[in-house]
Amino acid sequence: MMKRRYPREGILQNPRAEYKSSQRRRYTKDSLSKKGRTSNVELPLDDSLLGNSSPPFLKRYGMQLASLIIGIVLGIFIRGLFVQTEPEMEFDEEEEIVAEQKRSIPDLFNPVREAPESFKRDTFLPAMRESEASVAIADVDFSPGRDLVYVEDVRVWWESDNDDHEDDYECDHSMHAAMEIPFRRLSNLVAKTGKWELRVQEAFREWGVHSRNSLHKQDRALDITVERLHGEKLTFFEKRAAYEELAKLAWQAGFDWVYYEHSRGTGPHIHASVRPDGEVLTRKTRPAAMKAAEEKMAAMKLAQAEDTEK
Ligand SMILES: [Zn+2]
Repeated sequence: MMKRRYPREGILQNPRAEYKSSQRRRYTKDSLSKKGRTSNVELPLDDSLLGNSSPPFLKRYGMQLASLIIGIVLGIFIRGLFVQTEPEMEFDEEEEIVAEQKRSIPDLFNPVREAPESFKRDTFLPAMRESEASVAIADVDFSPGRDLVYVEDVRVWWESDNDDHEDDYECDHSMHAAMEIPFRRLSNLVAKTGKWELRVQEAFREWGVHSRNSLHKQDRALDITVERLHGEKLTFFEKRAAYEELAKLAWQAGFDWVYYEHSRGTGPHIHASVRPDGEVLTRKTRPAAMKAAEEKMAAMKLAQAEDTEK
């Protein structure tokens, strides 16, 4: 379906553009100076084409001069339809544009990195400090109004929606714009396992709790865990394995620094952070990226269902 639409549009647009830019002026000048107003060889062509043009347009000009211009231009236009266009070329160009648009829509469904073989407790990836991998907060200009986005995902359990503090202003849905893509991808990767519910324990917190240089203060860090679907609790041993898996998935989802925090008195969780200059979703790419991921998810579930039926 798409293939048909593009070449046809291309044909309609290009000759008109030519007409506007150069042809009109050149042809009218030539015709007028050389042939005069009335004795024009191309008039028959013009007459045959007048039926196609709209009467108001003719009335506005009302003269042979106008008819001449319109006739010649239409002649060029129509001849262009049959002779001058090179459908192959234009088709390639259109295909290129469509491919370009597809490239600019981030993939929220597939991992962007290989899974590490293991992700032990109290280790992180890459093997460098967070301030290097994700850029220290002192080096980043941050403004909540400009940099934060509100992210909703009904599959995710959000701590701030489930605690009883109604007056603490904590909102785990607000994230640095650069975190949205890795987060949404992670949510899809977790959903693909079919085993867990992703839990956001902590996102943005401007005051208190976190250390002075914590990336949570710019909401470039998330504390996440998983729990069994439908609110059932993981056992102690299941949790250890699940969090290791979650750390791997966070790494695969594209977070710039991933830390399996275990022994710091906070309770085990995965802390994952991003650089401030990562790719962001826009009003244009967000719906397209989310729709593409949802379609892939639906197709995957369908294939799984068919597999189990067999
Ligand atoms: Zn954290």
